[in-house]
Amino acid sequence: MAMIGIDLGTTNSLACVYRNGRAELIPNALGEYKTRSAVSVLEDGSVLVGAAAAERLITHPETTAASFKVWMGTDRIITLGEHSFQPEELSALVLRQLASDAEQYLGEPVTEAVISVPAYFNDNQRCATKLAARIAGLTVERLINEPSAAALYHRHTAGRGDCQMMVIDFGGGTLDVSIVECFENIIEITAIAGDNRLGGNDIDRAIAVHFCQENGITLEDLPPAARASLLRQAETAKFALSGTPAAVIALQAGETQYGMTLTCALLRRLCDPVFRRVREVISRAMKNRERESRIDEVILVGGSSQLTVFGDFLEELFGRRPAVAENPGDIVALGVGLCAGIKERSEDLRDVVMTDVCPFSLGVATYNDTRDDMPHMAFLIQRSSMLPACHQETFYTLFNNQRALRFDIYQGEGYYASENLKLGEIEVQVPPGPAGRQSATVTFTYDIDGILHVSVHSSGGDHRDRLILNPKISDTALERAKERIEKIRLAAQEDGQLLLERALRLYQQVPGSHRAQLGELIRWYQTNREWGDPISREKASRHMAEQLDRLEEWMNTDPLSSGFWTDDEDEEDEHDI
Ligand code: ADP
Ligand code: MG
Repeated sequence: MAMIGIDLGTTNSLACVYRNGRAELIPNALGEYKTRSAVSVLEDGSVLVGAAAAERLITHPETTAASFKVWMGTDRIITLGEHSFQPEELSALVLRQLASDAEQYLGEPVTEAVISVPAYFNDNQRCATKLAARIAGLTVERLINEPSAAALYHRHTAGRGDCQMMVIDFGGGTLDVSIVECFENIIEITAIAGDNRLGGNDIDRAIAVHFCQENGITLEDLPPAARASLLRQAETAKFALSGTPAAVIALQAGETQYGMTLTCALLRRLCDPVFRRVREVISRAMKNRERESRIDEVILVGGSSQLTVFGDFLEELFGRRPAVAENPGDIVALGVGLCAGIKERSEDLRDVVMTDVCPFSLGVATYNDTRDDMPHMAFLIQRSSMLPACHQETFYTLFNNQRALRFDIYQGEGYYASENLKLGEIEVQVPPGPAGRQSATVTFTYDIDGILHVSVHSSGGDHRDRLILNPKISDTALERAKERIEKIRLAAQEDGQLLLERALRLYQQVPGSHRAQLGELIRWYQTNREWGDPISREKASRHMAEQLDRLEEWMNTDPLSSGFWTDDEDEEDEHDI
């Protein structure tokens, strides 16, 4: 039985195992390390997870979901056709797919995992992540902050001496900035700041909004498929700008063709509002440090940190260009794998100690005197306290003959309790007596996994304990969710399906004049897939992949040219069914 590390990302998820003295990424059934965090319900009721599902965001938006990580820990219900899911159930499907691919790769059952979460995730979001794992049938050995994982891996492989690093993780939907101190064998996160609604998606959106302005249309008014198609093209153009100076975006909506050229200068301008928010988070992280000290190294991780304009922006900010990790998209997963190795107590890792800080403050609602009309916060654990943290405070009765003391537990930074997130409540009985005579002592213990343990002892001897888990979900609800998700059949992830979904998506995107030929290609491919022998299937897949690559490349360079299809004799032959 193996323990794996999982980077459960908004956009992409990866799995990693520690063996033979190193962290090793686990490929999925398609041979890729990254699995798109996308889920699509197929016509037969089975569920497709990964890249093929992401293609269906465009062709079947009503039965496909992605980026649901941003809704973790909320009541949001995501409806996919006739099915509805909570965000943690969708994450559970992604986890199940990753675990099943890992089982295939490792040849043994996978039942335990270390999972990474953005440092800025609040308690609800952390609990939802644990819940997702439980629904997927995995025991979570530990949650680890994504930047801690990245720092752990960087430190381990780069063999850096004592130093202070800033880790900037700029992904698809979240930004995390952490300050990490490496001292002898200790890796300590000394400050964090983040924004769990800021990432590469915002850049894609900014490009799409600009595209619409240029073309006199509104993004929100576009049909869902056209909107998804435009966002995807915006993303593809954004990728292209790391290698070329300009990229073209074209959108076919009804009979009208819209177009725009994206240059680096324009992209930089469109990114400005996003980068301003990045800057704010960086400065917040700097301010959150307990002591001022020099930053020796800035490490960029996450897919969006590969953007050239992002590097330019940081260079202006810091006065020198930060080092982009060799594998910015994988480093979190590698770190989580390493952490799984530490959990399993692999000999060669025994010395590394990791500490984390609490990303937010925790406390109870309190009244200072009877005239208070709104309860305010009494913080027991302050933001940025080193974990595990444990604090105690005593509270007294406010009225004569008060029979009970009730504590509402909150998380957040607001002065008034009502501004913060309520996590739960706990009540203890006290013997009657004059105001201020009876009391209760509240103890908060917040552990490294982000689980809050609250215990209250009253002066009358009454005692209550509470483990704060997701207050919305009872054990029976968990069992029901688990049963429901277990029953769902995961469709096999295979290259053929991915190619087909991709072709169907392109079919929607290409101008009408190209549809007949693409349609023919699709039918030819389907026939081959169904009836061909393994060798001709393989040949057909290769041909299909080449054609789609060329078609996509053409769409992103010159939408007005009509010269895409080659009339190569060989290919003509292959088209004959
Ligand atoms: P997450 O951790 O949120 O799942 P990732 O770290 O995998 O996300 O990053 C995904 C984001 O990175 C997406 O918004 C994607 O557009 C962006 N991205 C990936 N590769 C590149 C690239 N080469 N250039 C620019 N952006 C990229
Ligand atoms: Mg990530």
